[in-house]
Amino acid sequence: MVRRVAPSDSGLTVTVSTRGAARLKAGHVWVYRSDIVAVEGVTPGSAVAVRDERGRNLGSALYSSASQIAIRLISREPVADFPALLRQRIRDAIAYRERIVRDTNAYRVIFSEADFLPGLIVDRYDDILSMQILTQAMDAEPVREAVISELTAGLRPAVIFERVDARVRQLEELAPRDSALVSGVKGSTIFTMNGVKFHFDALEGQKTGAFLDQRENCAAAAQYAHGEALDVFCYQGAFALHLAPRCAHVSGVDSSRPALEVADRNAALNRLEIEWIEANAFDLLKDYASSGQRYDTIILDPPAFAKSKRDLDAAMRGYKELNLRALKMLRPGGILVSCSCSYHVSQSDFLGMLASAARDAHCTLRLIEVRGQAKDHPILLNVPETAYLKCVIAYVS
Ligand code: SAH
Repeated sequence: MVRRVAPSDSGLTVTVSTRGAARLKAGHVWVYRSDIVAVEGVTPGSAVAVRDERGRNLGSALYSSASQIAIRLISREPVADFPALLRQRIRDAIAYRERIVRDTNAYRVIFSEADFLPGLIVDRYDDILSMQILTQAMDAEPVREAVISELTAGLRPAVIFERVDARVRQLEELAPRDSALVSGVKGSTIFTMNGVKFHFDALEGQKTGAFLDQRENCAAAAQYAHGEALDVFCYQGAFALHLAPRCAHVSGVDSSRPALEVADRNAALNRLEIEWIEANAFDLLKDYASSGQRYDTIILDPPAFAKSKRDLDAAMRGYKELNLRALKMLRPGGILVSCSCSYHVSQSDFLGMLASAARDAHCTLRLIEVRGQAKDHPILLNVPETAYLKCVIAYVS
């Protein structure tokens, strides 16, 4: 039960329970609604001071009246000027990418909590910035203006585009709005990752256009790929395009025709021959495995099967089925690249599932690399939710 008390001299204040305070002291940045004891003078999306029940200061946070995550910490200190802090954080995020991003002009510039900018995601594709706003606080007009002007000053993009997730806005109780250009006029460009070229269209595609978190994994997979390769859940062909120069033949499978149409255009752009197959991956793997089709390299990069903890058992069965079929189809000496982008599936759950699939397939798996998300999607050690992608590269014998 949230008690609402009259505003005091202290201004906007949220008091959290002992459990909420302990979570913040342990280094996490979220407090759930069930751990909010009182709110004082707070409006949706406001920047608030956070206190424990004895009135001790725990820092400053952004408040949401709708999300189960009621507050997201932005500083351990009091914050007098939130837009100024925001501008500094954006400059820091850009500076971090300048140091760690290589061989690409497409990368995540801002990754929400991991850049201490909760509720804001910005991706760069060549000279186009794609921005996503996920919380009430980031949607406030002065905040949007500060974000847009700082991004413009720091990166000089030709275009800033806002990609709207209608469901997120609804959950956050924000007025609906359409995806649209915020500044500039053109909507498309060509970007490169690891020397491979890709079409980008701000107004199409899933998520923010490409799965940039797999960029370094595509390059890693290409190092070991050989022979006949199958890229399952290929989307716009990122893995397939990286593999093609090293392989005798590459096929990409996805259930989305629009994604495969872009994949085909990407292959032409890079003068590569790749076969694209529109199919349900589960059905296709079943058919191929039973008809004796064999491969030397298989990539598995399914969508998140476990969107919440409740889905975990069903998700693990889905991963196991896919991996088991892939292992049965790989020739000795083959390479399996198996991914999971479900945060709820831990790295050890995922490795355990692979071990069990290998036993059932009567093969041996040697781990070549156990990888995660690209470095422009930083992981905060004390915020486990920031680590979500697993990518295992293994040698089958
Ligand atoms: N490997 C891609 C990203 C894959 S995202 C990359 O690195 O860019 C997951 C993809 O799975 C999406 O393109 C989606 O269209 C596809 N997908 C989802 N369910 C599917 C199914 N049952 N069969 C085939 N593809 C599916």
